[in-house]
Amino acid sequence: MMTPTFSIIAPIYNELTNIPELYRRVKETLDATGEAWELVMVDDGSSDGSVEKIRELAQQDGRVRLVIFARNFGHQIAVTAGLDYARGQAVTIIDADLQDPPEVILDLIAKWREGYEVVYAVRAEREGESWFKLFTASLFYRMIAAITDVKIPLDTGDFRLLDHKVVKVMQQMRERHRFLRGMSAWVGFKQVGVPYKRAARLSGQTKYPFRKMFKLAWNAITGFSYVPLQMATYLGFISAGLSILVIPVVAIMRLAGSQAFFGQASTLIAVLFLGGVQLISLGILGEYVGRLYDEAKDRPLYIVREEPDNEIVSK
Ligand code: UDP
Ligand code: MG
Repeated sequence: MMTPTFSIIAPIYNELTNIPELYRRVKETLDATGEAWELVMVDDGSSDGSVEKIRELAQQDGRVRLVIFARNFGHQIAVTAGLDYARGQAVTIIDADLQDPPEVILDLIAKWREGYEVVYAVRAEREGESWFKLFTASLFYRMIAAITDVKIPLDTGDFRLLDHKVVKVMQQMRERHRFLRGMSAWVGFKQVGVPYKRAARLSGQTKYPFRKMFKLAWNAITGFSYVPLQMATYLGFISAGLSILVIPVVAIMRLAGSQAFFGQASTLIAVLFLGGVQLISLGILGEYVGRLYDEAKDRPLYIVREEPDNEIVSK
């Protein structure tokens, strides 16, 4: 069996209108390298005919491999499956909506040939995104950098090339709530960034509504940091410290005949504030416990309905 030099992974969730162009541009780019390659498309529960389209391509070109999930498992899991199926010496993760221009893969490959094992594409410019997305994304990357122990490069998505050594390590990291860019930073190896201009989506709508973005952010934080858990401790010390300070102050004021701090309002404020802090702390604890529970169940990360049948790659 011949193994390809390059694997390209594209997660697909209702990207019917983008698939032909994705294939065309990947083919054009990778053919220029003169090496054998494969395009692994992981269908993440599409319902718009994406599967049929990819099947068609796979029949015409044996280098297109299709993995079909039994349902929608989410972008990070779809990419994970791609990493499991990829056989190349260098594996590149790319979005199917052509926001990551396939031509940039050549720049990533050039760095890989220099000996780098993780080559991540850095978004120097972004086109066609709402100010809200730009703002939340920027805030998100900076917050993650501030509270996690792992040096996750700013403004990078999952668009990156991984050497097969790195892929092998990532295949062993079976955590459920995944943040792949964090994981690929965590493994170490020789890493380098390559700037690129992120394009607008070719067609269709974003498959990352606010809800999914929020979930990804939580996975990034809980996956790489205990800071939220420690917040409860800090807040506890602060409020306990404050109350110790306030007790003598109130006592002295009362002895001096002051009417301050009388009545229900001040009591209510203190009770509500602390009640809120306690509930939030409990919720944060819940986020970690829930993830712990998910890991303990040890279910498979994804369920495959259909594996690629074209095991032989032709150049
Ligand atoms: N995607 C996926 N499963 C999902 C959501 C998205 O496989 O549940 C894929 C999607 O088809 C695309 C990539 O992940 O190839 C990035 O999604 P999208 O472009 O919608 O995200 P955005 O660029 O808006 O952040
Ligand atoms: Mg996109």
